[in-house]
Amino acid sequence: MSAVWHPFTQHGLGEPIPQVTHAEGAILHTVDGRRIVDAISSWWVTTHGHCHPRIVAAMREQAERLDQIIFAGWTHQPAEDLAQGLRAIMPEALTRVFFSDSGSTSVEVALKMALGYWTARGEPRHRIVVLEHSYHGDTIGAMSVGARGVYNQAYAPLLFDVATVPFPSPGHEQATLDALERACADGAAAFIVEPLVLGAGGMLFYPAHVLAQMRAICAAAGVLFIADEVMTGWGRTGTLLACEQAGVVPDILCLSKGLTGGAVPLAVTMAIEPIFEAHWSTDRARMFFHSSSYTANPLACAAANANLAIWRDEPVLERVAGLAARQAAGLSTLATLPGVTGARAFGTIIALELGGNAAYLSELGPRLLAFFRDRDLLLRPLGNTVYVMPPYSITPSDLDRVHAAIGEACAVLA
Ligand code: PLP
Repeated sequence: MSAVWHPFTQHGLGEPIPQVTHAEGAILHTVDGRRIVDAISSWWVTTHGHCHPRIVAAMREQAERLDQIIFAGWTHQPAEDLAQGLRAIMPEALTRVFFSDSGSTSVEVALKMALGYWTARGEPRHRIVVLEHSYHGDTIGAMSVGARGVYNQAYAPLLFDVATVPFPSPGHEQATLDALERACADGAAAFIVEPLVLGAGGMLFYPAHVLAQMRAICAAAGVLFIADEVMTGWGRTGTLLACEQAGVVPDILCLSKGLTGGAVPLAVTMAIEPIFEAHWSTDRARMFFHSSSYTANPLACAAANANLAIWRDEPVLERVAGLAARQAAGLSTLATLPGVTGARAFGTIIALELGGNAAYLSELGPRLLAFFRDRDLLLRPLGNTVYVMPPYSITPSDLDRVHAAIGEACAVLA
């Protein structure tokens, strides 16, 4: 019997847990010899495909040189290179790069930076404004600014209160903007948002002009604007950042997942200069009080530098556009099938609902999961929302297999 306790897994259901031995591109190989198509990029992280040779080589080389070094008051070349590399390709106003280890911690850091900024200015502000249905991670602060539901009900006493504005569903955009304006009016510290796509909240898309208007409202009210691009970053929505599509430059930007091409954990929180300056002083009590043992681990930074090199040298956005087109074509067929609702595409992501509206713990979820697992596909529906978000290197025939299996699931399960 395995001693492993898996995340977001109900062990009592006795579902099989496949063991993966190796992977390349969009393919996972299991210990029992199965060839599985990874249609969700191993939880949205794998952008260029598994075990990309340049990322593997960079980590191997770094491992022989410097494995780990305290980062409080010390530095190393891979971190310096990465910070410069990010500055060169991310919006110019984001001049400072703070490292951490996961999407959740990049959000914790963003929230602490925002509150630290206002405190250091001598005008403390505490309230965080959030968008309905958001997901920002599973640590306490990240959960606090995310949607409340069955997945965090037991921990509610640990979570802090936030102001929530409604999701801008079609026809209700103005209500969102009005609510944001009201929430910002009396001195909120920051507004945190997933730009254009709410991922774990159900693959919900909203238009770029709404994001641009949300940004403008925060700017006018002097409220810090935090873009959580942990999922949307690194080409997922068709551009390097989703914010680009709205002409939005945030005050704080959270990046993780595809930062290392999805090979190893690493995150950054990038900030505008005034946030760094607010902490800058000869007074030690004003420093930014955040750290973890592995901050800016050299192996992870080397992987991220290799990712930046891939973005620099290879036609990544062309691959993204090709994948987006194939996804959209597949979706147009699936959209016509009986039982399918809400078929939608955004960049490299497609999503649809099977069997109408259902809750996160709907019975259909585990049945879909098993259906796809039996067909050697890694798909992990959010309730009855089926989505496909593959590595950019997935082959057309593997992607066709994924679309065909979803079509089959419609016929059998919907
Ligand atoms: N923010 C967003 C938008 C995410 O989608 C996720 C993870 O899915 C996170 C934060 C948390 O990232 P991690 O799982 O690396 O902690």
